[in-house]
Amino acid sequence: MQSGKIILRGIVQGVGFRPFVYAAAAAHGIVGTVINHGSEVEIDAWGEQFDAFCSAVSKGPKMSVIDSVDVLPLEGEAPENFSILPSKDGARSGFVPADIATCAHCLEDVLNPESRYYGYWATSCTDCGPRYSVIHTVPYDRERTAMQEFPKCAACEADYTNPENRRHHAQTIACEECGPKLFLLDGEGNAVSGDPIEETAKLLDDGEILAIRGIGGFHIACIESAAEKLKQVL
Ligand SMILES: [Zn+2]
Ligand SMILES: [Zn+2]
Repeated sequence: MQSGKIILRGIVQGVGFRPFVYAAAAAHGIVGTVINHGSEVEIDAWGEQFDAFCSAVSKGPKMSVIDSVDVLPLEGEAPENFSILPSKDGARSGFVPADIATCAHCLEDVLNPESRYYGYWATSCTDCGPRYSVIHTVPYDRERTAMQEFPKCAACEADYTNPENRRHHAQTIACEECGPKLFLLDGEGNAVSGDPIEETAKLLDDGEILAIRGIGGFHIACIESAAEKLKQVL
């Protein structure tokens, strides 16, 4: 049986790398482990299809940028299965990925009345969502992001731990039940009642200028006819 330790560097965290490796291991009959080590991804792999597995993981998930792949000899016994291990601190030389716009699959969920993500503004998955805006440091895990303040509900935990789910190991997973909430404040900082998105749309239509805070910081928003007023305010 072939084996090896595969070390990947580049933008390899926050891009769904570990669930991607997990799926590749299942597809190639590989046993072993994957771990975020510092800013790297480290895979210990054993299996007859090691070479095919190695070239599969070397391509990385679509949001990754791989700078280098090293394959080293591996010591020790092969485990019974493949697992994602808790991250370890280590060298930090990689880059943090940018925030990634909501993907088509997540948009489908947001617009689907049958989905538990229906209408939830911060829906994300391993392919999309905030990264740069929320990451405090690497290794990339929820507890080292702004999402640490929002413990997962049981339903999100179930999606997170299910290898068949596309939110398997998605660190920014959240829903209406457990995730960040939207609210609207007036110029004095007082809460405005009503649905924040609908009320914001009404205010914009009325020519008001709003600061919308989301992933990526604040966005100043107004309709075109209010642009002159905005210029005076700035
Ligand atoms: Zn998504
Ligand atoms: Zn939830």
